[in-house]
Amino acid sequence: MDIHEYQAKELLAGYGIPVPRGGVAYSPEQAAYRCTAIGGSAWVVKAQIHSGGRGEAGGVKICHSDHEVEDAANGLFGKRLVTRQVPAGKCVYRVFVEETVDIKQELYFAIVLDRAAETISVIGSAQGGMEIEELAESDPDALVRVTVEPAVGFLEFQARELAFALGLAPSQIAKSSQLFRAAYRAFRDLDAALLEINPLAVTAEGDLVALDAKMSFDDNALFRRPDVAELRDRSQEDPRESHAADRGLAYVGLDGDIGCMINGAGLAMATLDMIKISGGEPANFLDIGGGASPERVLKAFRAVLRDEKVKVLLVNIFAGINRCDWVAQGIVDAFDQLDVAVPVVVRLAGTHVDEGQRIIRDSRLPIVTADTLAEAAEQAVASAAVARRTTTG
Ligand code: GDP
Ligand code: MN
Repeated sequence: MDIHEYQAKELLAGYGIPVPRGGVAYSPEQAAYRCTAIGGSAWVVKAQIHSGGRGEAGGVKICHSDHEVEDAANGLFGKRLVTRQVPAGKCVYRVFVEETVDIKQELYFAIVLDRAAETISVIGSAQGGMEIEELAESDPDALVRVTVEPAVGFLEFQARELAFALGLAPSQIAKSSQLFRAAYRAFRDLDAALLEINPLAVTAEGDLVALDAKMSFDDNALFRRPDVAELRDRSQEDPRESHAADRGLAYVGLDGDIGCMINGAGLAMATLDMIKISGGEPANFLDIGGGASPERVLKAFRAVLRDEKVKVLLVNIFAGINRCDWVAQGIVDAFDQLDVAVPVVVRLAGTHVDEGQRIIRDSRLPIVTADTLAEAAEQAVASAAVARRTTTG
């Protein structure tokens, strides 16, 4: 789960990390009110969307009066901001108004999980401001990486090493290493999966301030972090994914037109690969899990068909704990209760497969059956191609 910049800054401030003074606003009037409450003579108005790259997309504006703040906010509210990270764009419903900071240097700082090595990486660079992907490509040597063993933690000497590697002045080493370790504590204590401060600004006075902050969290740990869970903003999520998540389905939205309903994450990945090999594009990843009841199958059907791009639905079940007859019943129920306007390809194998196939056959519904995964993928790709031709021609 991702959160907004202003929420991340509030969390980080709680761990002692310096952030500019600011306030969130839900309307242009409130934005103007925020700047008078903050005081000073210049402010930054920042679009709050779940994406980076807002600066170059026109989502960060420096203003010199409350009128300018109101105008800037007015221009952002309701706008779909298209960034390099989110080509489809995300809508702005909140802005963050902050005091400006006199920036002398912009650093990059991040903490990420290194899944392969089962460790945590702390990454820093003296060249902040630009996106990490860009930096990694243009000047990989400018990135400093420190490996942290989770059982040991981010030690003082490692934090100091990072501070020296970033070229910070001797007078800044103590406070910067303190800041780095505070960020690590926030990352660990809150079950974060990513923490990025870019830029981490060095001010004219030599202080370090988090000018931007991005955090995302492990969904599987949200149950024990209610104060993090409540920061969720559905307006920023893929509506297909929120719908499925609310119904306990493991669903990831993709860009293709072949809807998928599969049991098991491994089989789901293999099915997506098979679709691609057969020349098609999956519309989603969906794992219905083990022991799925007909009701659950019906819910999964509904989740897949909500996506208007879907031109064919592929069901691939290799039942171990699952029962093919339950899945088949769920499919028949779906035809009964939903408006299934696309071809459905079903491959069933494993527990109670004969009974499952009998239910499909006896229903006399226009369901295409397949015996193998390869055959099912080919059928689905062929059906999608036909559907594409009929809608475009
Ligand atoms: P992002 O583009 O989504 O990553 O948004 P950022 O919060 O990183 O803002 C983009 C850029 O705006 C930063 O790299 C800064 O250069 C600039 N910026 C943000 N806040 C301030 C500020 O208070 N003062 C000044 N002068 N520039 C700022
Ligand atoms: Mn940034």
